[in-house]
Amino acid sequence: MSNPSLLILPGDGIGREVMAEVRRIIDWFGANRGLTFDVSEDLVGGAAYDAHGVPLHDDTMAKAQEVDAVLLGAVGGPAYDDLDFSVKPERGLLRLRKEMDLFANLRPAQCFDALADFSSLKTDIVSGLDIMIVRELTSGVYFGEPRGIFMEDNMRVGVNTQRYTEAEIERGARAAFELAMKRDKRLCSMEKANVMESGILWRDVVTEVSKDYPEVALSHMYADNGAMQLVRAPKQFDVIYTDNLFGDILSDCAAMLTGSLGMLPSASLGAPMENGRPKALYEPVHGSAPDIAGQGKANPSACILSFAMALRYSFDQGAEADRLEQAVQDVLADGVRTADLMQADGGTPVSTSEMGDAVLAKLDASL
Ligand code: NAD
Repeated sequence: MSNPSLLILPGDGIGREVMAEVRRIIDWFGANRGLTFDVSEDLVGGAAYDAHGVPLHDDTMAKAQEVDAVLLGAVGGPAYDDLDFSVKPERGLLRLRKEMDLFANLRPAQCFDALADFSSLKTDIVSGLDIMIVRELTSGVYFGEPRGIFMEDNMRVGVNTQRYTEAEIERGARAAFELAMKRDKRLCSMEKANVMESGILWRDVVTEVSKDYPEVALSHMYADNGAMQLVRAPKQFDVIYTDNLFGDILSDCAAMLTGSLGMLPSASLGAPMENGRPKALYEPVHGSAPDIAGQGKANPSACILSFAMALRYSFDQGAEADRLEQAVQDVLADGVRTADLMQADGGTPVSTSEMGDAVLAKLDASL
């Protein structure tokens, strides 16, 4: 059998720096765990614009469709701020998500014990937190028609449309139930069925899908209450399934429970390919961080943890994903910190590559 394939798109700014550390970790798994990937690397975002005049070349798009998983760093930067909207770096990322039809966005919010002090909430509320938000990513109010700013009675009217088909709700729900089956078997679906018809349909379809997952305890919650509960008692949740708009807000809210942008991974999954693996794009939540780019200050953990998600969700290597996540946790428990994780009272931060070294040392120690 051939090796699983991975397309690496470092992108811009710190994307390149954090991805360099992930490359070393990928090599470690090849050398020590018999997990060899066929890795190819290409350009996206500003880097692709500089080389080709577009933020994603057609050949790169075609490659992304063929590989088992795509791993992306970050795109964007001030050098590209004045470009036409159609060729801005972010358009490269949006094109990947759209053409790969990545409808389920997975955003874990996990609080590592060593970082519990970083949360804006009290330590006992967040320590041990481990929740997963599944956000529907390709439909809803960000895409619904009609949309625009129109004239009505001599006045401008802004219009967006929340629209969901049963099929769109169902496929995301199945992804969420499958995840719940691999976790604590609890799923909370969030919408606004009290005031939105699309919410009534959402609740109906999710309830219908739940019949195929009798082991999963399903609950429903209005999304505004969900936001309150996330900051009141976040540990009550295991998996949350919600729409594109509510998911955008709730996942950012949940993410901040854990402290730093430099720690947050994500996955966007689509339909299964012929080999049974889902179309998949893994990327840290953070951007290209122009304020620290090129200085060796970036925290590579979010990108490293995104690769751990790839091990788990694309390559069925849950135990190896655990090994990598544990290595990151152990490094933090030793007090090793990049600058974004330093408390005001100090210590000396490590560089991006020193953080990579520390994770590799923990991986070695895990053998
Ligand atoms: P950002 O996430 O790049 O940075 C926000 C702040 O967090 C900065 O102070 C940065 O230094 C810090 N930060 C982020 N990641 C870090 C890490 N790994 N380690 C240490 N510190 C980290 O967001 P921004 O400043 O709003 O955007 C900068 C550029 O990135 C813009 O061009 C934006 O469009 C783009 N962007 C891209 C993505 C993406 O590629 N998915 C996401 C968000 C923003």
